[in-house]
Amino acid sequence: MSERKRADGPADRDPGADLREIAFRLEAANEATYRVRAFRSAAAAIAKFDRAELLERAAEGTLAKLKGVGDVTARCIAESLSGQEPVYLRRLAATEGTEVDEETDALRRALRGDCHAHTDWSDGGSPIEEMALAAVGLGHEYLVVTDHSPRLTVANGLSADRLRKQIGAIEAINADLPPGFRVLTGIEVDILADGTLDQDPELLDRLDLVVGSVHSGLRDEREVMTRRMLAAIANPRLDILGHCTGRKVLVAGPDGAPGNDERSAEGSDRAHRRGRSRPESSFDADAVFAACVEYDKAIEINCRPDRLDPPKRLLRLAVEAGCRLAIDTDAHAPGQLDWLRNGCERAARCGVPAETVVNTLPIEDLLQWTAGHSG
Ligand SMILES: [Zn+2]
Ligand SMILES: [Zn+2]
Repeated sequence: MSERKRADGPADRDPGADLREIAFRLEAANEATYRVRAFRSAAAAIAKFDRAELLERAAEGTLAKLKGVGDVTARCIAESLSGQEPVYLRRLAATEGTEVDEETDALRRALRGDCHAHTDWSDGGSPIEEMALAAVGLGHEYLVVTDHSPRLTVANGLSADRLRKQIGAIEAINADLPPGFRVLTGIEVDILADGTLDQDPELLDRLDLVVGSVHSGLRDEREVMTRRMLAAIANPRLDILGHCTGRKVLVAGPDGAPGNDERSAEGSDRAHRRGRSRPESSFDADAVFAACVEYDKAIEINCRPDRLDPPKRLLRLAVEAGCRLAIDTDAHAPGQLDWLRNGCERAARCGVPAETVVNTLPIEDLLQWTAGHSG
């Protein structure tokens, strides 16, 4: 069952919307990127033609001759044009996991936005506009765009200049988005070895929200890592500590639920070889969580099936310490914005109160909270 809203009725279906919906659901199910891309490419390909031309091609059976359209996507387009839900989409909907317990569902419904997402400005796959529209479809009130910082060159991290441009681009995009929704400016800034943040301080001050994460030296000694994290948390420009242990877990296949700690552990017969696992960094969690409370910063509950960070053991500790939390997808594609439930489920199991989750806050309160750090 999708939480997304569909505007069009069955009478006049938009094949492009159907193709994008399929792509969204495949991404949400963590399917391989090339499969998702086929549907997004086909949607882009048919956007150049009007309905009459497409109907003609469907009648002739020549949709698959269009560049960017294959046999499978052509069938979806033809079905959609005839007013039917594409079989492919119907099958996807029928096989999606639907069981959500009450606590998880309540937490998910309390969330108003997502504070960690990437676009094609860094290592994400889609433009800001597409990510924003997907967030609108999920009922979000805001999406914070948090692309990478310069030091993460493998992820095409944004220089100060590009970040300035992105801030301007977001302002323009917001002007065209539906009222009641806003893209917020942000960054996932690298926490450097000495605990400083990898971007101009004056630019970090301008952003609505700053997620800070460790992406290097993950095997450093406990004392070294603790010192590094504490310095970052004390920095008034940081708001949320991203994926705090840096671990990677193996991902259960789309037919299995996105793994929990146990199921996705290495050696599980369900786990398949998508990526590699990586152990947790070692740091003094009591000290780090106490600092988050002292400086009123949030610990991220990262929803990516390959991260699920922090592990439940540490999440319980953070709850006991009284930390604020942020349930974020760290999405790199529109469909991944639907991963919030992964984090909500873990949060519910660990007794996270909704009022301690910063993205349950209305936009003004969220911004007041982040401004409170730098002000
Ligand atoms: Zn990261
Ligand atoms: Zn990220």
